[in-house]
Amino acid sequence: MCCPPWNTDEEFEDDDRGGEMPILKTFCSICNPHSHCGINARVENGRLIEVEGMLEHPANEGTLCVKGAASLQYVYAKNRLKYPMIQRGERGSKNWERISWEEALSVIASRLIEIRDQYGPESVIFFAGYPKWFRPFLQRLAHGFGSPNYATESSVCSSSPTVAGKLTYGYFGRPDLPKTRCLLNWSSNPFYTNSTLTRSLLDLREKGVKFISVDPRLSSFAEKADLHLQLRPGTDGALALGMIRVLIEEKLYDRDFVEKWTLGFDELVDYIEEHPLEWAEKMTGVQKEKIREAARLYGMTKPAALMTSASSTTHHLNGFQNHRAILLLPGLTGNFDIPGGNWVEPITYLYTTSGAPTNEEKIRLVKTLKELPPRIGEDRFPIWCRYYTPEAHSMAIPFQIKSGKPYPLKAFIGFGLNYRMWPGSDFFKESLLSLDFLVNTDLFFTDTCQWMDLVLPAATSFERTELKHWNSKYLMLTSPVINPVEKSRSDLEIIFDMARHLGLENLFWNGNVDAAIDELMAPSNYTAEELRKCPEGTYVRNPLKSGYKKYEKSGFPTPSGKMEITSTILREAGFDALPIYREPRHSSLSKDPSNYPLILNTGSRLPMFIHSEMHNVPWCEELRKDPLLDMNPSDASERDIGPDDWVWLETPRGKIRVKANLTETVLPGVVHMAHGLQEPDVNLLIEPDYLDPISGFPGFKSLRCQVTKVD
Ligand code: SF4
Repeated sequence: MCCPPWNTDEEFEDDDRGGEMPILKTFCSICNPHSHCGINARVENGRLIEVEGMLEHPANEGTLCVKGAASLQYVYAKNRLKYPMIQRGERGSKNWERISWEEALSVIASRLIEIRDQYGPESVIFFAGYPKWFRPFLQRLAHGFGSPNYATESSVCSSSPTVAGKLTYGYFGRPDLPKTRCLLNWSSNPFYTNSTLTRSLLDLREKGVKFISVDPRLSSFAEKADLHLQLRPGTDGALALGMIRVLIEEKLYDRDFVEKWTLGFDELVDYIEEHPLEWAEKMTGVQKEKIREAARLYGMTKPAALMTSASSTTHHLNGFQNHRAILLLPGLTGNFDIPGGNWVEPITYLYTTSGAPTNEEKIRLVKTLKELPPRIGEDRFPIWCRYYTPEAHSMAIPFQIKSGKPYPLKAFIGFGLNYRMWPGSDFFKESLLSLDFLVNTDLFFTDTCQWMDLVLPAATSFERTELKHWNSKYLMLTSPVINPVEKSRSDLEIIFDMARHLGLENLFWNGNVDAAIDELMAPSNYTAEELRKCPEGTYVRNPLKSGYKKYEKSGFPTPSGKMEITSTILREAGFDALPIYREPRHSSLSKDPSNYPLILNTGSRLPMFIHSEMHNVPWCEELRKDPLLDMNPSDASERDIGPDDWVWLETPRGKIRVKANLTETVLPGVVHMAHGLQEPDVNLLIEPDYLDPISGFPGFKSLRCQVTKVD
């Protein structure tokens, strides 16, 4: 039997009623865990009919971005997955058959047990893309099954900066925005990627807080900055070292801190003495006077905070060391772990600092790493694997599938898998298709789902119970505000049920989700029952107090106990201990850039999408219909390209057809394209192996390309 995997109901039509209906409390979890906006929902006859921002919620105070405002179109999207489905015949044949949950889970369990018996549990990969809320439980399932290979999308997002912070300070802190007087924002555009911060940032600006923006593009944040350093993509390390030179030359650094608490300052001084500001100007393209001005503004305004992005600085082949160079700035200027600087608060649950301690690690890790075989990527990216949470490295997966070394991989159990996340996405897809068994759980019948053996329909945040922690010391445990669409289910229930079919129910509280939440929240004395009594959420009682300058009590949690300008760990591993600057492999300064003279900068997001999500939602899709390539008018005129002309964007790996958007927001010599589109897929243009040797992060943001007009 063949049936369509998408919703065949008539397209949803907006219904402007509301009024007397009770307001149900929930939140939007479409984007990153630091946002997640409180929502007031209205429901009629079991159908969601209206959403609005929850005024009393500290994350969004009544606002919603376009994605959240389009929640109805998201929940009732035409391509929503409605049933568990199995693909009969060849992958990609579209011969889908609807099956029951019981049958789907039985098929999955029997195939996984078969594969485990034949090849070992490590041959099965458990992968989490977006959303992130169920991750500790998926890792528990992987480890309970015996596989070390729990992998996530964090292999290309946030983990490289996290590890860079660990190697330098042992931990790192977010910018303490309410108390800062100067914000150095290094390549992040929170107006697009973390829109719940927008209001507070604009308020800071109105209060006279100084903004410095470092960004290869004139972003909407950079437009508001006192100073914008528009650097050549991938030269962040050279710029940071140039600023450090000024801080040292002009004695704007914190000498007490440096003497007592740093390792490697003399090596740093030697290096920067050999690298004058003229060098930094040549590398970055930023005038030396501007570098000096930025260093003075950051070094002389106290307190000053550094804001970095989860990936912009590290999506280069030299990104890890570039990021380390940037991270030296708060320590050298005495802005580390102080009010208004970069304040270190403990992560309590899923990347957030809610102040409510949890048993997250205990839930995640039911086996020690010593009890498990080596993870994928441990041989190639040992530092990342050792100093990030114990995950497998997703970027190493296709290479191990191809080589079968150190052991073969046979099955992939995905939750929110998008094969186009990988550089050289065709290479990843091809390697994925060589596996014996492929499953994906998703909200929508995506491009990736087409290639699976089995797909499982997930529920949105409106249809499930979800526990959420916020940095603003706020907690929420939601109840579904509508029944799941058709046969979709909460990811957590799916994981618990997979565990039952694999004989692991004892590890999963015998299917009792509330018991799992009770255990998770035990260190802060909350129970699921208590949290449910506050459907709108609650401020954490007695949140953990962090204090400042914690290193003064027990030193930094690094090998030397100091802030490591020269990293002991990197030195021992054979890498540069000092974050010296090296040009990326695809540099515009290479000897022969003649065929590919431009630099392609990609991997960025637009505010109406989140990576590959929301392109199926009309309100969002209407805001950006064409695949636009931002290009400086001077580069366009050299190529006889006019506004809105269709052009070929080409690298040595291939070419895609895109539309020229002539704009001064990008520098001459640089073109920019946002990521996440299914077609044309910009990741096809990147070599699969174009990876930072330390972090394994792909060089999405600086590779050589050419642009020509389509005839
Ligand atoms: S998508 Fe928009 S509304 Fe939803 S959590 Fe993110 S910022 Fe908030």
